[in-house]
Amino acid sequence: MLLIQQKLSRRSGRQQKGGERMAVWKCQVCGNIVEARCKPGKCKSCGASKDKLIKEAQPQK
Ligand SMILES: [Zn+2]
Repeated sequence: MLLIQQKLSRRSGRQQKGGERMAVWKCQVCGNIVEARCKPGKCKSCGASKDKLIKEAQPQK
């Protein structure tokens, strides 16, 4: 199990190499918007756990 998680995290790390694509995360509890490349551990505003944070769709060209 640990090996699988390590592989997954490495893979997602490499995907960020292509560009500075920031993701937008929205808190479902308080509506706070967080911009971060990877998913925040919790909402900085209300402290909700990360499963309350959903990725907002980013407009792409
Ligand atoms: Zn929040």
